[in-house]
Amino acid sequence: MRKYIFNAGPCKLSDMTLENTAKAVMELGNSGQSILEVSHRSADFQAVYDETVALFKEVLNIPDNYSVVFVGGGASMQFCMIPYNFLGTKAAYINTGVWSKRAIGEAKLWGDVDVIASSEDRNFTYYPTDFKIPTDVDYLHITSNNTIRGTEIFEDIDCPVPLIADMSSDICSRPVDVSKYAMIYGGCQKNLGPAGLTFVIIRKDFLDKVVTDRKIPTMLQYQTHVDNDSMYNTPPCINIFAVGQTLKWIKSMGGVEAIEKLAIKRCDVLYAEFDRNTVFRSVVEDGSRSRMNIPFIMAEGREDLEKEFLDLCKAKNIVGIKGHRLVGGFRASTYNACTMEDVDALIATMQEFEAKHK
Ligand SMILES: *Cc1c(COP(=O)(O)O)cnc(C)c1O
Repeated sequence: MRKYIFNAGPCKLSDMTLENTAKAVMELGNSGQSILEVSHRSADFQAVYDETVALFKEVLNIPDNYSVVFVGGGASMQFCMIPYNFLGTKAAYINTGVWSKRAIGEAKLWGDVDVIASSEDRNFTYYPTDFKIPTDVDYLHITSNNTIRGTEIFEDIDCPVPLIADMSSDICSRPVDVSKYAMIYGGCQKNLGPAGLTFVIIRKDFLDKVVTDRKIPTMLQYQTHVDNDSMYNTPPCINIFAVGQTLKWIKSMGGVEAIEKLAIKRCDVLYAEFDRNTVFRSVVEDGSRSRMNIPFIMAEGREDLEKEFLDLCKAKNIVGIKGHRLVGGFRASTYNACTMEDVDALIATMQEFEAKHK
């Protein structure tokens, strides 16, 4: 049977994504070739690419003055590509956990970093909202959803300098006012497709802001990927195909507005259960609670039950519940393809566990 999948990434994908990608592995359309075999320079693949980009623009309502490209190296490569291209003297960052810290670390290789807000004082259990954005920086970088700590910002902030967001784990989970951002990027493996592909949505005039006094290798220049339709080098064709199928699925579900409503419904019942259940509790402050990654722990004094609960989850075909190795406890990742049925299975298991240990 198919398990109840709460993996943090690679994550659960829609049936439509899996079925259509499986079919394309056998034959892409009527091309007589597998998506694994087809040339990235062929008309067959160009059609796949164009459709995927067009769907991305449609689903996320991306304005015409933005380019969408796919690159390699994961979101982690973006941590270095962004300052390499855009950090002339100083950049501002908000520190909301592990991924922000990595981004900050890479930026420091190329210039000054002004960390204008941080939630480290309370162990990253909230999203800081009290900050002033300096105007003498090249850009502000934020992590909109903190995959490991489970905090999220739902607002597209007004920003007097170019705003860059790592949306690896909340892309396409809600409508976004893309026009507020100079760039949005992320690894595709959390809400869009398999691991190995990174999306970059970049405002065309922001490309003019690339630093001029530094030599940048061709593959690390955004312009290279924009000018070559993401095909300066050989792209992972199957990943681009799979992302296209997910975007098609999002559209068929009623778009990101409908997807957001489902996400709110799922996490409302989960967070309500943490508040009610005497054995488990949420670790994230109200108001910052992510809809995509929901960390939770045993109630105080019940920590010794952790392994027993993981064993019960396993017996109930629930996978991916173990917390990140850096924070422990549990985490349910409830990305777009997560269903109420998945959430109900987890809640029933938590209630069964509570009844036994009350
Ligand atoms: C997973 C994740 C990353 C790292 O992504 P890779 O594609 O593995 O490099 C970066 N930022 C966020 C918010 C993530 O969730």
